[in-house]
Amino acid sequence: DTIKVDVLIIGAGAAGLMCAAKAGARGRSVMVVDHANKVGKKILMSGGGRCNFTNMYTEPNNFLSDNEHFCKSALSRYTQWDFIELVSKHEIPYHEKKLGQLFCDNKASDIVHMLLKECEEAGAQVETRCTVHEISVNKDMGEQGSRYRVSTSLGEIDCQSLVVATGGLSIPTMGATGFGYDIAQQFELTLKPRTAALVPFTLSKAMLERLSVLSGSSIDISVSCNNTVFRENLLFTHRGLSGPAILQISSYWKPGDEVFINLLPDIDVDQWLYQKQQERPKAELKTIVSEKMTKQMAQVLTDWWCPSVPMNQLSTKKLKSFAEQLSHWMLIPAGIEGYRTAEVTLGGVDTDELSSKTMEVKKQKGLFFIGEVVDVTGHLGGFNFQWAWASAAAAAEFV
Ligand code: FAD
Repeated sequence: DTIKVDVLIIGAGAAGLMCAAKAGARGRSVMVVDHANKVGKKILMSGGGRCNFTNMYTEPNNFLSDNEHFCKSALSRYTQWDFIELVSKHEIPYHEKKLGQLFCDNKASDIVHMLLKECEEAGAQVETRCTVHEISVNKDMGEQGSRYRVSTSLGEIDCQSLVVATGGLSIPTMGATGFGYDIAQQFELTLKPRTAALVPFTLSKAMLERLSVLSGSSIDISVSCNNTVFRENLLFTHRGLSGPAILQISSYWKPGDEVFINLLPDIDVDQWLYQKQQERPKAELKTIVSEKMTKQMAQVLTDWWCPSVPMNQLSTKKLKSFAEQLSHWMLIPAGIEGYRTAEVTLGGVDTDELSSKTMEVKKQKGLFFIGEVVDVTGHLGGFNFQWAWASAAAAAEFV
């Protein structure tokens, strides 16, 4: 027997569950299907298991997209404060970690349970382990009829609105697939090139060898690439560079691009070294540098950029060029680690194909794309979930 619902949502992740709850609350009959054995796997693993569910300082400029204006409508209609209100209504304890990033005090599963409870209260049906085989358009159904027939492992499902909430490509082992992009292609929608983002950089073998002893250590830096700057932590790893600063800038990096790192962003390095030369002429350079970073880091960097002799043996020119290295370390990453470790996918369904108000495909009535599958990607810090919630809430008003 064919199942009939008003709204069928593919993907029971952040966006799919939010959309289901909101559309159900409007009185629509809703079913959300997922191929995974449980819902919201990425929510569960997010934020180190505590889910950085939104950011208090969410602004449109925290998002990358070919059309920087696209995200504005949805973000302004369902804000971080709306989501915080929902979290509070469910009495989920949370805290600000830093920079407006809100995390659960306990577990990310609090957020999944909250969404499932909202779905239940709204009468939205949630089905896991459901494979979607094929989508076809029902012809001549009229305005109120079932526009789409979706064949699944649960049987044929007819729906008036079909919402694609299948997310991006990162962490394939958690159920990520390119299915949403396949659906977009079936309907001849333009896709923006996709790459892994919020992802560590890999380094050349020679560079890795040089930095290998620093693996595991971190330092507060500022990093810039293609006119974008982030001030955060850098973490040296055995594969390359990671930490929030690197993850953030990775979204702005293309293969071959130069990245500039200021290892001492709080001071005028040149002036500081000059002053130290006057104050402590007999101290070794690495001893001076280790006032501002670990001894090991000071050792590696002096070995690399300037001989660690007593300060009074260094010419002004030498000191200047070392200062320049420390504050303007130019490197060209070998690459990025890829979808295995990336937090998100940059690119996706071209926003030109969608209404920013409804998330509906302009040329295909009743078909909606929400969440990460769309070419809107947030910075690190809870912004990607905020986009999932906001785009889902936007669509839910119109499905
Ligand atoms: P998802 O939440 O990924 O949901 C997509 C759903 O679709 C999944 O349940 C999947 O099983 C299902 N699906 C996929 N293909 C099919 C198919 N063919 N058929 C049926 N179902 C399918 N963002 C933050 O804001 N804060 C964080 O703290 C944070 N931490 C993260 C940590 C990690 C390790 C990762 C990988 C990501 C993190 N993110 C974080 C990003 C965030 O998880 C995503 O941007 C967000 O989940 C996107 O929501 P979505 O609903 O679009 O996709």
